[in-house]
Amino acid sequence: MYANYRTQPYLEAMCHLIEQYKPEVILMGATGMGRDLAGAVATRVGTGLTADCTGLDIDDKRNLMQTRPAFGGNIMATIMCDKYRPQMSTVRPHVMQMPEPLAGADGEIIKVDFSIPEEQVSVKILEVIRDGDSKQKIDIGGAEFIVSGGRGMMGPENFALLKELADELGAVVGASRSAVDAGWMPHDRQVGQTGKTVRPKIYIACGISGAIQHLVGMQDADLIIAINRDKEAPIFEVAHYGIVGDLFKVVPELTQNIRELKKQGCGARVK
Ligand SMILES: Cc1cc2nc3c(=O)[nH]c(=O)nc-3n(C[C@H](O)[C@H](O)[C@H](O)COP(=O)(O)OP(=O)(O)OC[C@H]3O[C@@H](n4cnc5c(N)ncnc54)[C@H](O)[C@@H]3O)c2cc1C
Repeated sequence: MYANYRTQPYLEAMCHLIEQYKPEVILMGATGMGRDLAGAVATRVGTGLTADCTGLDIDDKRNLMQTRPAFGGNIMATIMCDKYRPQMSTVRPHVMQMPEPLAGADGEIIKVDFSIPEEQVSVKILEVIRDGDSKQKIDIGGAEFIVSGGRGMMGPENFALLKELADELGAVVGASRSAVDAGWMPHDRQVGQTGKTVRPKIYIACGISGAIQHLVGMQDADLIIAINRDKEAPIFEVAHYGIVGDLFKVVPELTQNIRELKKQGCGARVK
């Protein structure tokens, strides 16, 4: 019944668990499945749901403080659901830093036997067809090194420059929404509020202005390098290193320098 996700059985099972255990807080991943299930559960149990949180905390009254971008990403709002229980939030993958494991910490897994009659489930799964391409698909969310391009790339063909740099670094190529909306890169490469949240070791932003909706998706990278010809571009406010210049000159030079360094056996320093 639960092998393949279907809203109805998962919804009934979650509601059964909520009824039985009365949790104060329910957290789900903001994945395709989590988004679907969380909304259905919140509606059924009559509570609030804050989707796509970027920060979570608990106040001294046991209220969950759920922070997320609001008004098109222009402000960060902290939302509380203090009159209803459970308090429900979803969080996108990679938004939060992986905590260090606590030695000796453990928890109890309680197995609950629950199902609903199959004939009550209106959706039947006839066949599961795996996306043949899925192994080749790049998970930008989990990438350690990302070279991203924005509207400043001026056209899809110029992403080849970024690909060359990315190949030298063992990186993947990402994009701003402008580049994706223009059809220069596929949507699964989009970084930002309506794309992926990334947390790489190095993020190189090329021809990206640094709109807040882009920044919320990449500002937690360990090292941010920005290349932009406008020295006032907001991306420089979050960048650790900024190069003010024409990316069409800077990027090939950077790639060439890295190649030479690698030839000299300095590959470890590059990485
Ligand atoms: C609800 C909502 C959700 C959004 N979600 C996202 C999202 O998920 N991700 C996202 O990225 N955006 C998102 N946006 C869009 C966002 O507001 C910006 O419009 C977008 O990020 C701008 O993309 P850009 O930086 O590539 O383009 P621009 O803002 O046009 O910037 C292009 C930059 O390239 C520079 N440049 C141009 N030519 C060169 C050159 N030769 N050399 C060097 N630099 C050069 C320019 O100086 C400029 O700074 C969202 C907007 C809304 C309203």
